Parts: sequence; structure tokens; C-alpha cells
Amino acid sequence: MISRAHISENALKVLYRLRNAGFAAYLVGGCVRDQLLGREPKDFDVATDAHPEQVRELFRNCRLIGRRFRLAHVRFRDEIIEVATFRGSAAPPDQADGEDVDAEDEDDDGIAESDVAETAQLTDDNVYGTIEEDALRRDFTINALYYNVEDFSVVDFVGGMADLEAGMLRLIGDPEQRYREDPVRMLRAVRFAAKLGFRIHPDSEAPILELAPLLADIPPARLFEEVLKLFQGGCALATYEQLRHYGLFEYLFPQTEESLEHEEEGFPLTFVARALRNTDERVNAGLPVTPAFLFAALLWEPLRERAALLQANGAPRMEALQRAADDVIAEQIRSIAFPRRFSVQAREIWGLQPRLEERRTKRVSALLDHPRFRAAYDFLVLRSEAGEGGDEAADWWTRFQAGDEAERGSMADEAGEAARGRRGRKPRRGRKPPGGANGAEATDEAVQATPPAVTGEGDDDQGQESGGGRRRRRRRRGRRGGRKTPGEAPTPDPA
Ligand code: ATP
Ligand code: MG
Repeated sequence: MISRAHISENALKVLYRLRNAGFAAYLVGGCVRDQLLGREPKDFDVATDAHPEQVRELFRNCRLIGRRFRLAHVRFRDEIIEVATFRGSAAPPDQADGEDVDAEDEDDDGIAESDVAETAQLTDDNVYGTIEEDALRRDFTINALYYNVEDFSVVDFVGGMADLEAGMLRLIGDPEQRYREDPVRMLRAVRFAAKLGFRIHPDSEAPILELAPLLADIPPARLFEEVLKLFQGGCALATYEQLRHYGLFEYLFPQTEESLEHEEEGFPLTFVARALRNTDERVNAGLPVTPAFLFAALLWEPLRERAALLQANGAPRMEALQRAADDVIAEQIRSIAFPRRFSVQAREIWGLQPRLEERRTKRVSALLDHPRFRAAYDFLVLRSEAGEGGDEAADWWTRFQAGDEAERGSMADEAGEAARGRRGRKPRRGRKPPGGANGAEATDEAVQATPPAVTGEGDDDQGQESGGGRRRRRRRRGRRGGRKTPGEAPTPDPA
């Protein structure tokens, strides 16, 4: 049913070498599913009865990864083929240890020490199983199809072919038990439903609303990986709508959920939706996307609200923005590990907003060279499209970029004139009115000093890159409302 012509050369090499050595070897999972649906697979996974050490002996370019369950990565120039030994029911749930990292080579990867201790026990032979056991421990029936290169057949133990034809996403086994075993499967259900346009079977759908709070126990590092798959797979908008529908979104972005609930004039919804649609367009056009932009967009409304509050209490605009950024990020990383290199960039995107709006510096063209200019400009345009204002500035920057050197020169001169004019009319010293022209004067200095000085409040996200797996212990003070308890979640009825 699947022609070999559509299978990666490298995957075929791996399959044949395993077979020639006397082992069973099949393609399995997303690559079989996607090929049967006429889609191009993201990557190729192989399942085999060879043990990881036996796989390693067959391939020079092979590396064993994973602490709780060993997998072999066979590396080719531009592709890695993941080879997993059939798992029995005693094996830990898939990827439950977050990002798989070679235990020997990396020591500071954010995976808790306790996982290391478990390695010996979990790599024992008792975690391996037959192909049928391997099928049963997978998540959805359509993800448990095995492709046999020998005779081009698809091996199906769980009714996956019928579900594939019916456009149905169905968990294997008892749904509630399978979600409890690994709550990330709820996110996967939504992701595949949105990506493939499938329906979630009523039995698989029913427990989600009630079990959504279990996501709170997933390590933040793993949730970060999942969030990227949810929002950078080309179907972010549809996925986001489904996540909200099933009451899952609030466990990923609690602050965003909160601001969506008291949205004014539909702005936040429009903004987030626009940002996600923009991300989808970029992904589908093959353009790069960054988690920094995604998080900057998802957290923008909570940030604005927090900054407005601080400004109302007398903080100058730029300082309010920075402190709000510290708070919002510190709160966010309690649920999702947002690596520091990205949070620094998100702050830059936010910090550039007032600078792009005000164009106060004579050297506006220097802003063009800022490494985050492009992202910040896109962000500004989205804001203006979403009706947040800043239209004039967005237009100005669009024209400025399109202009030739002479046009840019005169536009920059005008901007400089305007800035000097504004400065000339205002007193230069004394108490600065919040958000006024002088308040904004702090803008340039503050943002140029990127990465922004980390204040005491912001310490929470330091070391994110290396310690992403750690739960943030500190409770945020002064957050209005707080995280809802699961019982109160006003979620729509999925029926
Ligand atoms: P994608 O197109 O996103 O790669 P995929 O189905 O290949 O989709 P992966 O995360 O690459 O998803 O996982 C590969 C396979 O491993 C899945 O098809 C499924 O059979 C199994 N699997 C992955 N995660 C889980 C899980 N949490 N529980 C059970 N099985 C899982
Ligand atoms: Mg895959």
C-alpha cells in the first residue's frame, strides 16, 4: 500500500540492514499514518526486536539516547532515523522523561537526577516486548500501524486502518486510564485532530475536560517541547481553538486564559488568533519561526495588563514594561519551561514596541539593524491589524523599509526633527509623568541595554536553559484572580 519510492532512503537502509541481520524491522507511527493519508512524513521511526546494543553494533553512525528507555538514533547527513525496540507493558510511557538526551554525553540537560537512577532498572529486558505489545502501548490506533518493507503490507493490531479511513482519532485501551498514565496524550489528541482534521472519538473525548488538570504535573521542560509541536506545526490557530474548547489551554498559558476571559472589545482574542495565523502562514511557506515570537504574542495581553497596572501606580512606561515582563515570564515558567535564550528575545520584541512606535531616536535606521527588528516589526503590524493602535507607526516602518537610501534619510531626519521638537517643548528634569514623553525617553536607553537587566523579580527564569525541568517553586504575589481550580473552569461542552 505504501510505495517504497515515498520512503526515505536512509529509513530503507536501516530497515534492510536490520532484516538482513535476522531481526524484525518495521516503520511505525506518524510516518506510516501520514503516508497512508498522502501527507509527507516529518520523520521516520523504526520499530524492531533488536535490542539497542544490537542496533548499535549494526550501525557505525549510531548513538543510544534516552535515560528511562533506550532508543537508537542512526544518524545520516541530514536525517536521524529513530530505532526503538518493541516495548512491553512494563516500559515507561513514551517520551515521559521529556527530551531524550544521551545520558553519557550531556550532564546538564534539565532532567532530574532521579531519572538517572532509574536507568538501570528500566533498561532491563523486562521492558521489551512483542510487536503486538508494542502496538498496544502506543497512543492512538492510527499511530500504531506497522509497515513491512518485505511485502509492502501494513500490520494493524488495533483497528487503525478503519479509523484512518473514518477520520477518527481513538485511544488504544481505556481512555481514562491512558490519559492518567500520560496526560500529554490529551494534548496529542488535540494536535492530531487539528492537524489531520480528524474527529476525536466520543469515548476518547469524554474524559478530557475532567482530566485536563493533570497537565499541571507534567514537567515544564516536556510541556515546552509539546507546545512547540502544538503551535509550530502549521496548524496553530486550529489547535489553539481546540485547546480552549477542551479546557487544556488554561493549563499551558494560565495568564493568557485569564486575560481572554476579561477581554475588552475582542482585542486579545483577535491578537492571539492573528499571531497564530501568521505563524501558520510562515510555517506553511517554509519560513522560520521562533518560540520567542510565539511566547511574546501569547503573553502580550497579560503583559500589557500588568504594565498598565504598574504605570497606574507611578512606574515610568519602560520600567513598567520591564517589570511586567519579569513577572509574566516568572509566572509562565511555572508551567512551561521557556528557555532563557527565548525569553530574552521575547523581552526584546516587547521592548522594541515603544521604540518603534515613538521613533524618538535620530538614528531610526539603527533600529533596523537590531537583531530583533524584523520580529518586532511583524509584532507591531499584528498589533495594528488587531486594532490595538500603532497603525501610523506600522505604516511608517513599512514605508521606511521599502524606501531607498534617500527616502530613508529624509524619513529619519523628519523623525529626528519630530523627536527634538517634542523634547524641546517638555521640561527635561523633574518628575516624569508616567507614559508621557519623558517617561518614554527612558525607552531608548532601557532597550538598548539588552538583554535587559534582570531585576530581583526576574531571577526566576535564570538558568532556564540548563535547569528547564525544575518546577518553579515561588508563588507570584499580587496576581489578580490566581489560577482557577479545575472545578470552576468555565469550559465549553465539547459535545
Ligand atoms: P508527528 O507527525 O508529530 O511526528 P508522530 O505520531 O510521529 O507524529 P511522535 O511524537 O513522533 O508522533 O511519536 C511517534 C510514535 O510514538 C507515535 O506515532 C505513537 O505511536 C508513539 N507515541 C508517541 N508519544 C506517545 C505517548 N505519549 N503515548 C503513547 N505512544 C506515543
Ligand atoms: Mg514522528
